[in-house]
Amino acid sequence: MRRIGVIGGTFDPIHNGHLLLARFALEEIPLNEVLFIPAADPPLKPGAFAPAAERLAMVEHAIAGCDDFSASRVELDRPGKSYTVDTLKTLHQTHSDSALFFIIGADNAAQMNSWHDPEGILAQCTVVTGSRSTNTSGGDTRLIDRLLFIDTPLIDLSSTQIRKRLTAGLSIRYMVPETVETYIREKGLYTTLCS
Ligand code: ATP
Repeated sequence: MRRIGVIGGTFDPIHNGHLLLARFALEEIPLNEVLFIPAADPPLKPGAFAPAAERLAMVEHAIAGCDDFSASRVELDRPGKSYTVDTLKTLHQTHSDSALFFIIGADNAAQMNSWHDPEGILAQCTVVTGSRSTNTSGGDTRLIDRLLFIDTPLIDLSSTQIRKRLTAGLSIRYMVPETVETYIREKGLYTTLCS
């Protein structure tokens, strides 16, 4: 049976924290491949700053040349809020011979009780949690106890910080792949105030 990792996010923009989380999960579990799934309409955020097509393009640039990483449009092609439980259902239909591993950062694990249908998510996949400088404290331990924790390097980067730096005219070199930085500059993304 194939083992597929799924990393969902707003990817506004994708950064090296996302990429390292996915790479370490792939090695540690181990997985055959990881799908990056940009959310069309993230349920727990007020909305994205860059349009969905541009967030997807940045993901595609970031993973170009990596045979075991790919980008999926599954949430972009579905109207309404991008609920993980629905995405997993679709992936089970399209990858019926595979076990799914949903990869998240520790900050996300702490919010699990506010996710839509966490039981439905846990029934369909193993939720894998990497390290993040924000920890899981304050989360619902009945849910957190059912997660698979893996050791990943602590990379204190967020898309918020990157957007703020771009708005302030600061460098984002080494925070995102060079191809992503070039795309952001060419498209003039995040030049007006975003937080
Ligand atoms: P924002 O700052 O806009 O809220 P973000 O940097 O948290 O964005 P998301 O696209 O929301 O990025 O994150 C997608 C997933 O990646 C989440 O599960 C999140 O916990 C995880 N993640 C993001 N950045 C890191 C990081 N630096 N280290 C570990 N996990 C991360």
